[in-house]
Amino acid sequence: MIASDLQSGIALLGDLIAEAKSIVPFTGAGISTECGIPDFRSPGGLWSRNRPIPFDEFVASQDARNESWRRRFAMEPSFAAAKPGRGHRALASLYKAGKIPAIITQNIDNLHQSSGFAPDHVVELHGNTTYARCIGCCKRYEIAWVKSQFDEDEEAPSCEACGDPVKSATISFGQAMPEDEMRRATELTQHCDLFIAIGSSLVVWPAAGFPLLARNCGARLVIINNEPTDQDDIADLVIHHDIGETLGPFVGN
Ligand code: NAD
Repeated sequence: MIASDLQSGIALLGDLIAEAKSIVPFTGAGISTECGIPDFRSPGGLWSRNRPIPFDEFVASQDARNESWRRRFAMEPSFAAAKPGRGHRALASLYKAGKIPAIITQNIDNLHQSSGFAPDHVVELHGNTTYARCIGCCKRYEIAWVKSQFDEDEEAPSCEACGDPVKSATISFGQAMPEDEMRRATELTQHCDLFIAIGSSLVVWPAAGFPLLARNCGARLVIINNEPTDQDDIADLVIHHDIGETLGPFVGN
């Protein structure tokens, strides 16, 4: 059912939240647009400016690695300045109230952790861009270190320990999904009674399979997104409005 207007959407969502014992939110880039981080697919989103660099290209080409890091550094002011928005804060309030055991996110911006979720309770399907890792031995590096290395010769650095490329700790197209996170997300989805997909176009798989799985396991499904998704038809409630305005009333003290 599609909410006829914002106020009835908020009221229906409030009822579903009140009835639920275990809520699992599933977030995409749309929850962070009001924080100054563009999404991928909206007009002006990242894809309208840059073709994504697939994982095999990153591994094979120093030029691709240089370009990938140039783009990441260009985004640094946005990531560094971003503060949790109303959507993040509403979910953090429900988490503090014991309604949400953990959150599943496609986002890489660390804003759920900044809003008050314990890092262990944020299941990041696509990794995190606020730090980097060696793709060989997984040694962690900070973005500031990568930048200082890059600034010496305009070349993306390699791992000090094993010599393999250092990449932001995100999952690129063509890169294997993280097994532990996929397992945890599956378990959370199977055991919740309310699953809320927020700000995702639901076109990136396998992540987009989680709302469907929740519905198939008997949970109620809510989709909050300002444009239709392919899964609107199977949702119990669809709210086609701004996320901050929809979730703002659920921000606690
Ligand atoms: P997407 O860009 O495909 O979809 C975002 C959706 O949110 C769109 O349908 C858009 O219409 C909607 N939206 C944007 N702002 C909104 C608002 N204020 N209110 C309501 N709806 C709004 O994003 P996705 O589904 O998350 O998939 C893209 C991939 O991009 C993900 O894998 C994610 O890792 C990555 N990504 C992450 C970030 C981030 O961490 N903030 C930013 C860009 C891309």
